[in-house]
Amino acid sequence: MGKPTGFMEYDRCENQRRPPLERICDWEELYVPAPDAVRFQQGARCMNCGVPFCQAGVQFEGKQLGCPLHNLIPEWNDMIMDGNWGHALARLLKTNNFPEFTGRVCPAFCEQACTCGLYDQPITVHDNERAIIEHAFETGAMKPRFTQHASGKNVAVVGSGPSGLAVADQLNHRGHSVTVIEKHPRAGGILTYGIPNMKLPKTVVQRRIELMTDEGVTFVTGLDAANPEIAQRLAREFDAVVLCCGSEEPRAIGVDTQNVKGVCYAMEFLHAAVDRERFGVTSSVPTARGRNVIIIGTGNTASDCVATCIRQGCESVTQLVRRGRDDYLAPDGSLPQDYAQEEAAAKFGHDPRVFSQSVASLQTDERGNLVSITTKTGDTFPCDLLIGATGFAGCRADVCEAFGVERDRTVKTEKGHFQTNIPHIFTAGDMHRGQSLVVHAIAEGRACAAEVDEFLMGYTNLR
Ligand SMILES: Cc1cc2nc3c(=O)[nH]c(=O)nc-3n(C[C@H](O)[C@H](O)[C@H](O)COP(=O)(O)OP(=O)(O)OC[C@H]3O[C@@H](n4cnc5c(N)ncnc54)[C@H](O)[C@@H]3O)c2cc1C
Ligand code: SF4
Repeated sequence: MGKPTGFMEYDRCENQRRPPLERICDWEELYVPAPDAVRFQQGARCMNCGVPFCQAGVQFEGKQLGCPLHNLIPEWNDMIMDGNWGHALARLLKTNNFPEFTGRVCPAFCEQACTCGLYDQPITVHDNERAIIEHAFETGAMKPRFTQHASGKNVAVVGSGPSGLAVADQLNHRGHSVTVIEKHPRAGGILTYGIPNMKLPKTVVQRRIELMTDEGVTFVTGLDAANPEIAQRLAREFDAVVLCCGSEEPRAIGVDTQNVKGVCYAMEFLHAAVDRERFGVTSSVPTARGRNVIIIGTGNTASDCVATCIRQGCESVTQLVRRGRDDYLAPDGSLPQDYAQEEAAAKFGHDPRVFSQSVASLQTDERGNLVSITTKTGDTFPCDLLIGATGFAGCRADVCEAFGVERDRTVKTEKGHFQTNIPHIFTAGDMHRGQSLVVHAIAEGRACAAEVDEFLMGYTNLR
């Protein structure tokens, strides 16, 4: 695979982020894709290592080793090197329904497992993946694909995040009639209403929904399946129902916020920001404009809040991190910054993170407006917007109760399976696995679709 000497001839060249002070002035994509000539060389770096750990996709000592989708990475690296985009696309779509999402937001477990990375820089698998699929959309190669035979079975998928979309895509191409039910006005789940546009443009999500619609998937938006009547109707009228409702229950901030104005959870804040900025929808959730913002937490969600606050024109933004700074240091002793921390440092002159701090109490004015917070170490920070990005406690109870499926934090199934206590109701994604990543949601959706197919037909060719 690749060019036998490619890894010695060419250096790793990643897609570059636009300069922080430029990109905080808009909501457009962070990364500028490298030209094809660079991409061919990056494909050529793949070193034919014999055992491609990149595509292994196993858990090893509690860590993910390689791509959870088992993407056929060395094969498509080879095809990229030859400029054989058509073949590369065919091999990529064999294992990944939505490379345009993972090629933008996946943490690239493949690269962490790349043999070339043992002594040098890993192959740019993540960027190569994005290049294949974007090339396909640009050249019209991503045409609707239709299935020859209809199975006569119908399936309802509740929730249109990446897991629900993957289930729907797999079952639709298998010949089942698929209807996706979504409570929000637009499909996409966190891809649409959580991850900001600069990381994942909403046009990219919409493009996929339109393609799936053209291929025969029906999307019904604005319908909340937690309503018991709707749930029972779905359970009655469909041969199988798949619950992909995500992990929406936020973990509590840890202080009493009742009657305090100026406190919200990350998902409310990010949802309102996308609604305002992309879809022209107003919201009662405050913007960060002119405010001193404190964000509690780390990880993708907290960072997306930091970057959104900066673009909304906040006065200041601080990230309170419970653990100590040492926990985040790279092996060389440096403190890595993600895109949002880089932007905050460029705009305000310092990293937004304050370590070993958590909120102890909130102070308000006489009208209940938040004015400052005090931490457990006794420090006080001015604050008129507090955003909790403290993670998710699990799936919502209402939708589980409406369908009568058993749950604790997530919906209960046998280990490694997706069928709930009700035989024709299945579950996948964060609702099943707990808060996770887009690549895991797609992997869950694919595996769940195979189980549903087997349930409906007595056998499956989706594995
Ligand atoms: C802010 C943020 C940033 C993230 N950034 C990244 C990242 O950079 N990289 C990455 O890999 N992962 C990221 N993640 C995680 C990733 O987005 C999730 O793991 C993934 O979206 C889970 O997919 P899902 O389909 O299981 O659920 P979701 O995407 O949560 O979708 C669930 C869908 O179900 C719908 N729904 C819920 N209840 C009902 C109901 N009663 N009736 C009808 N519809 C219902 C919801 O409206 C939603 O559309 C991020 C998460 C967040 C919150
Ligand atoms: S989905 Fe993620 S882990 Fe798999 S090849 Fe793409 S970037 Fe790598």
